[in-house]
Amino acid sequence: MAKRRKLVVGNWKMNGRLTSGLTLAKDLADKALAERPLSYDLVICPPASLLWPVAETIMGSPVLLGAQDCHRANHGAYTGDISAGMLADLGCRYVILGHSERRNGHGETGAEVAAKVTAGHLAGLTTIVCVGETQDQRMSGKTEEVITEQITSSLPDKYQVSSLVIAYEPVWAIGSGEQPEVGVVRQVNKLIRKVLGSVGEVVQVLYGGSVAPQNAESLFAEPEIDGVLVGAASLNSDGFWAIAEKARLY
Ligand code: PEP
Repeated sequence: MAKRRKLVVGNWKMNGRLTSGLTLAKDLADKALAERPLSYDLVICPPASLLWPVAETIMGSPVLLGAQDCHRANHGAYTGDISAGMLADLGCRYVILGHSERRNGHGETGAEVAAKVTAGHLAGLTTIVCVGETQDQRMSGKTEEVITEQITSSLPDKYQVSSLVIAYEPVWAIGSGEQPEVGVVRQVNKLIRKVLGSVGEVVQVLYGGSVAPQNAESLFAEPEIDGVLVGAASLNSDGFWAIAEKARLY
């Protein structure tokens, strides 16, 4: 079995204006250019408003572009939405789907996420599907049940295995400064591979939740963790680069 490549993804969420976003993107592009070729994949997911200017800024560098969501349809009367095809048109290679902030804040169901995975794959995007338990679910011992249900419902019957990434993001660890022990992430990532079945060993399974320069290395060192999805710490180029560079060691 070939070694899975590490993947580092920055989710800017609804942050960044033209000047600050392009400064951040250019800093990262410069750092990545100086280190190329990278031995891992490095992706930034700015808000939709910055996708095109960021695409232009990182063009020719090893930094790859991702988006934070897409619609299930390819085009049509969906005011305010963006299709996977439109994202691909702007140079996106990745799209985050089913983030807990969309499942909880926008009532996204597993079926909705699954339809978006299909749309993403049809447009040639790699889909990063997020799953994770809440604090209550964790405390009542339901983590395994919740993760199994989310994976099962959030994937379509047929999908492009090479274009699928799963991110285990415990909801209680997002933006809280708290994290599960690496051993716990290992167990959940193993469970995710088991639920994925025969393709489980080839799909990259990430961890996300309060990843920072000081805790990144122990995550990369764990063979079951194929990389990280980073929120707040991806908004600072030195901090995000410090996290990314830890991936080089594994
Ligand atoms: C996220 O929202 O995907 C995330 C991991 O956020 P943070 O790193 O800020 O916890």
